[in-house]
Amino acid sequence: MTTSSNPYRLARGIVPSAYRIFLTPDLERFTFTGRVEIDVDVLEPSDKLTLHAVELELGAATLTSGGASLLSSGVLFDETYETATFSFEETLPAGAAVIEIAFTGTLNDQLHGFYRSTYTDLDGVDHVIATTQFEHSDARRAFPCFDEPSFKATYQVNLTVPSHLATYSNSPVANDVDLGNGQRTVSFTPTMKMSTYLVAFVVGPFEETAALDVDGVPLRVIYPIGKGHLTATALEAGAFALRFFAKYNEIPYPGEKLDMVAVPDFAAGAMENLGLVTYRENALLVDPATASLTEVQRVAEVIHHEIAHMWFGDLVTMQWWEGIWLNEAFATFMQLLCTNAMRPQWKTWVEQAMFRDMALNVDGLASTRPIEYEVISPDDTQGMFDVLTYEKGGSVLRMLEQYLGEETFRQGISNYLKKHSYANTVTTDLWDALEEVSGQPVRDLMNTWILQGGHPLVTFEHGQLSQRPFVFGDPSHKGAIGDSWLVPVLTRSIKGGAASRHLLGDAPVAIDDESPVVVNAGGSGVFRSRYGKDELAALAPHIAELEELERGTLVADSWAALFAGQITWDDFLLVARNLGNHDEPTAWGFVASALDMVKRCARDDQRATLAAQARALMAPQFERLGWNRRDTDGELTHQMRAVLIATLGTIGADEAIQGEAVRRFEAHDMDGDLANAILRVVAEQNRPGDYDEFLDRYRNAPTPQDEVRYLMALGSFGDEKTALDAAEKCFSELRIQNGPMVLGSLTRNEFSGPAVWRYLVSRWDEATERFTSSHHSRMVGGLSTFVKDPAFAEEVIAFHEAHPVTGGYPASLPQQIERLRVGLAFAATIRQQI
Ligand SMILES: [Zn+2]
Repeated sequence: MTTSSNPYRLARGIVPSAYRIFLTPDLERFTFTGRVEIDVDVLEPSDKLTLHAVELELGAATLTSGGASLLSSGVLFDETYETATFSFEETLPAGAAVIEIAFTGTLNDQLHGFYRSTYTDLDGVDHVIATTQFEHSDARRAFPCFDEPSFKATYQVNLTVPSHLATYSNSPVANDVDLGNGQRTVSFTPTMKMSTYLVAFVVGPFEETAALDVDGVPLRVIYPIGKGHLTATALEAGAFALRFFAKYNEIPYPGEKLDMVAVPDFAAGAMENLGLVTYRENALLVDPATASLTEVQRVAEVIHHEIAHMWFGDLVTMQWWEGIWLNEAFATFMQLLCTNAMRPQWKTWVEQAMFRDMALNVDGLASTRPIEYEVISPDDTQGMFDVLTYEKGGSVLRMLEQYLGEETFRQGISNYLKKHSYANTVTTDLWDALEEVSGQPVRDLMNTWILQGGHPLVTFEHGQLSQRPFVFGDPSHKGAIGDSWLVPVLTRSIKGGAASRHLLGDAPVAIDDESPVVVNAGGSGVFRSRYGKDELAALAPHIAELEELERGTLVADSWAALFAGQITWDDFLLVARNLGNHDEPTAWGFVASALDMVKRCARDDQRATLAAQARALMAPQFERLGWNRRDTDGELTHQMRAVLIATLGTIGADEAIQGEAVRRFEAHDMDGDLANAILRVVAEQNRPGDYDEFLDRYRNAPTPQDEVRYLMALGSFGDEKTALDAAEKCFSELRIQNGPMVLGSLTRNEFSGPAVWRYLVSRWDEATERFTSSHHSRMVGGLSTFVKDPAFAEEVIAFHEAHPVTGGYPASLPQQIERLRVGLAFAATIRQQI
């Protein structure tokens, strides 16, 4: 569909260049009044003016041009396309003009548009906040506008608010005038030229850090009252990213200041509004002394992701929403690059293999999708905010970067950003920039990864590399999975030396090497690797000598191959036994995932065997490391301990570990890294009173991370009565933003999950009404793990096929159902092999 034939898009006969927005929110009545002035250029004279507006009461529109003013005579709303069309009795003359419209609206509780959020401070006082979330198309809920990313303009915001409240917008304060009636009007300087979805304003009782001067950019963290002690990590991560991206892109930060705000009620993780980035509390505020390293990493990564967007997304923006994948995939790639530069010892690229694996686990299903697809209605975009966009997309960019060379890639990105600053692009503009600087067929290569679903299985057998599609289920029903790819493959000899580069197409490539060969050298390839029998036998004794990411990738690929029925349990154990003595939470995390799934499939009489197999793999590692930190520990050693404790204390049925976990829980002796593992081991024992203790610790949690930790741990109680009580709380006590996540965790429990699922579907209509549509698929996060009882699985499948998810990620339910079917087949097979 062309731009002009898409009914969701405005005609380009009138184009905005500058907005002046005047808003007065009422935080007691949850309403607002406003007025907007828009400088426009009338390119095609007409007697109609169409803008986007939804759930706003609009006054008449005035259009002033050349000293004369025209007043609209009527307005027509279109609910489907969310537009308001004003008619005039005369034709609007061509040339510069100013539109003026007054309006009123509601501060809604739906977490989009101009909405309200509430919190209770440490003294028990309730507060109301008015804040915004406009991506993808909700600026039109706050003021009438040309609400498409390609209508870039400047925005000068003026907020009239109660004098005692703080208020922020994208740019610095220009004027702050006390009105003498308990109200003040704060005027902000005009923003740079940008899209409507990036406009933001926040009003409420906030506190802020002093501004940190980052090479001339003032950086602050803004937070609900009393949480200032949780801001140091955010300031450090923010300052690092501002400098890192200015240097990488060779372009200064495009805003005038950067404020990062923690908002108590927030649908997404964070939002990249230029100069005023909004975050969920646990994505910005953290206490490194009590949080786990993973939680601290997550805060740094989310901040790096959002700041990457200031250039990629805010300065250079997609033409239309189908380009959102590139916006997000790129920010994901850049966040990892930046975090890796800030803390190389965190081994960010190795950890990322876990997220890449999650994406490939979806992408190996017939119900996967191409990364980019045609978007007609802006709502079609919702389906793009998933692991395939962020994790597969980001991984494909990393693969391309490693193939082209890091500096060549960086130069291409910098050229692209400079060429398109303050403007809009389509995906191929980026490929062209990279092609120009590298001389490689980037456009053809990337088209095979972006425009078709799935990924290849690259086989190394009889001295040759070849590819075929990786499919979890029946290969003759591969759905959206493509046929072949242009695969950048790096291989290397185990003897050492530089990696060889191959661009593998349909024809096999001969590898002339006598020594064992590593297929996915460096581990950045977005494909599954498979070795022939002889090739694997030659490589197995050397697994412990591989690079860490190569080893992690090999375990992940082996687990995927086992789940797809391509190798046996013994084959998998051969790889796991050869990992060597490395402190590698990622590689061992894949082993733990495999054990967990196999345990769900096992017959009761096989549990003892499986427990023994788990102990045989992991107990020697735990004996090597023990419970407590040591001076000789690496940065990630404690994460490795957590993986071992969680698995040995549950699947491994290790009584000594269970006893020590209980002791530490009762003594409040849990450091951040071990806490999740300890809570899981404790909860699985279903001891009387522990559930109430978990709830108590949740309610009195000193940090946002502690709060989430105890909530998510509720899913480990296998006792049905307990689990059902927790499920009920998702509909009453818990914040709306947390309910679906906790329900997902509860359904994932091997024992109580089915009862929670039945409870959830008994309240399904209420649940889909209560929770934000983009969170619906999370409620049944455990669906694909119902592999034990085929009859129950069929009941689950039948219900969800009759009750599809419409908002959010519409594909995710069919994907979970398909994964459940693959899991049922896997369960039948693995029971023969334990
Ligand atoms: Zn993003």
